[in-house]
Amino acid sequence: MSNQSGIFSNAVNLSVTGAAQTSPADAADASQDDAVHDVVIVGSGPAGYTAAIYTARANFAPVVLAGSVTAGGELMNTTEVENYPGFVDGIMGPELMENMQQQAERFGADIRYEDVVSVELDGEIKTVTVEDGTVLRARAVIISTGSEYRKLGLPDEERLSGHGVSWCATCDGFFFKDREVAVVGGGDSAIEEATFLTKFADKVTLIHRRDQFRASDIMKQRAFDDPKIEILWNTRVAAIQGEDKVTALSLEDTVTGEASELPVAGVFVAIGSDPRVSLVKDQLELTVDNTIAVDGRSSTTSLPGVFAAGDVVDPTYRQAITAAGSGCVAAVDVEHYLAALDS
Ligand code: NAP
Repeated sequence: MSNQSGIFSNAVNLSVTGAAQTSPADAADASQDDAVHDVVIVGSGPAGYTAAIYTARANFAPVVLAGSVTAGGELMNTTEVENYPGFVDGIMGPELMENMQQQAERFGADIRYEDVVSVELDGEIKTVTVEDGTVLRARAVIISTGSEYRKLGLPDEERLSGHGVSWCATCDGFFFKDREVAVVGGGDSAIEEATFLTKFADKVTLIHRRDQFRASDIMKQRAFDDPKIEILWNTRVAAIQGEDKVTALSLEDTVTGEASELPVAGVFVAIGSDPRVSLVKDQLELTVDNTIAVDGRSSTTSLPGVFAAGDVVDPTYRQAITAAGSGCVAAVDVEHYLAALDS
């Protein structure tokens, strides 16, 4: 069972970009990247891939560091995306992301399925180091690292992750065929996860800490109408029980304090996500929401030549389409920045 946020299985691509200036040494050693790239994009959700489409089409031969298991971002864990413009009947999240990836590659983006371990963003030439030690140099960097699933913060959550605790119904729902499971949260994600799980599970208990959902009306109605979903209002998970795998949840009524127990084989945590800023938090200015601070509607960060886009700058909207729009903004900002450097 997977507890990873990514399910993408593209082969690792270590090739050095052809369009950027490469030295003869590159040919001798594939892990050595001596080129100074115009732009390196860190992250591959709708923001990263849109930035890649635009910068590739503008002939900047972007290198996209897409992540080894998280390529495609959160939409890889989604089922049907019904509100992305242009798809009358909706589109599956993974298909949408593969389309964006192929569209970027069509214009020459060099997409590498590798994780970034560190960045040096100061100075005219920035460096980005990936897991195998390869250091990429770039005149501009776009940070589009998205967000990561929020945890409940319970002592047994990590221990039982992959053994009944999950953050991804599309990855792990299948393992709970004919079982009873719980979903924690009251937003669109929680209801989406719960609805998806009803395909497999006998019963899904949706546990929310308040007495009304944060989710949109259409999603709320889906939860109310589904006979397999039972809603527990004003309830928090106090503990996850189980030795080798989840067997039950200890619950607490948030109004009365009354304790109870819910036997379940699995618990899906869908309580939102936090911007993924660990790579850059010591180098870039952050906002009070812990997103990367950008100047107005632009993608300009506190360091010249460093741009940020997508959920990592957005504490409010966090939709696939807003992330894609934000990736476009970053690409246009990079274009202007590089043009100014060259003028
Ligand atoms: P969200 O809207 O921030 O909702 C998070 C939910 O988890 C809230 O109900 C919150 O409770 C609860 N929560 C937060 N921390 C908790 C904790 N420590 N313990 C228990 N509960 C906790 O996050 P989201 O549902 O992931 O949605 C994020 C964005 O993506 C939203 O803009 C949403 O519209 C969008 N989205 C859209 C779709 C769709 O359109 N199909 C699907 C998924 C996501 P409170 O309500 O009490 O704060």
